Amino acid sequence: MKDILARRSRPLLRELAAQRTLLVLDFDGTLAPIVESRHRARLPAGTVRLLRAVAGAWPCAVISGRSRADVVARLGDVRLLAVVGNHGAEDRPPLPGAAGWRRRVRGWRRRLEAELAGVRGVDVEDKGLSLAVHVRGAAAQRRAALALAGLEGARVVGGKRVRNATIPGAPDKGEALLRLLRRGGFERAIFVGDDDTDEDVFRRAPELPLVGVVVGRRRSSAAGYYLRRQGDVARLLSVLGELRRGVPPPRQPRRSPQRSR
Ligand SMILES: [Mg+2]
Repeated sequence: MKDILARRSRPLLRELAAQRTLLVLDFDGTLAPIVESRHRARLPAGTVRLLRAVAGAWPCAVISGRSRADVVARLGDVRLLAVVGNHGAEDRPPLPGAAGWRRRVRGWRRRLEAELAGVRGVDVEDKGLSLAVHVRGAAAQRRAALALAGLEGARVVGGKRVRNATIPGAPDKGEALLRLLRRGGFERAIFVGDDDTDEDVFRRAPELPLVGVVVGRRRSSAAGYYLRRQGDVARLLSVLGELRRGVPPPRQPRRSPQRSR
């Protein structure tokens, strides 16, 4: 695994800047620092400025585990090419099957709420097309893991102090990225993320024209590149912005991609 900000990675970034490359970012722990309460997660003012500048020079998208509306609200006035929510399953227009997924998730939520009622440190969040069970403390973690294991037909993926129940067969972040690449006719993508569900993207690097960058170096990641810490995402955005400054933009994608709003 190589440091994407190291001098020896610069030729790769230059190459990406010269191609029709889509820049895709995760939100929590990538663009926004991880905070104690998920409700408080926000883009630092410096990141807003950088992201706005980068989005003017690079086609940019966010793929997050949050619901799409939640992420859009947190991006403020930064205009992106696409915002995909629910770990890849929530796009605009809605994907075929989304209504059925929503019903299944509602059933899971009722079951978890009944099973975990009164357990301290557990917070069940219904994101429409997936569930997030936020846990604080070892006891809460154990009880939540047990309850989640009992959910019928759920794919359970870990995260930072959270476990997600997603629909097996619904698009994950990797499929969402592939969809965005095809939709816009892009040659390549650079994806930056920090979570277990981001590994669904990194693992596809051999079949996709993808440069995967994990936030926080770890041996278990399938990403080819890393950033040491979340604060370095701003540095990467700044470098990417610089690389496209004064450079004629690569020729336009074949089809015109959809706007996020
Ligand atoms: Mg994340």
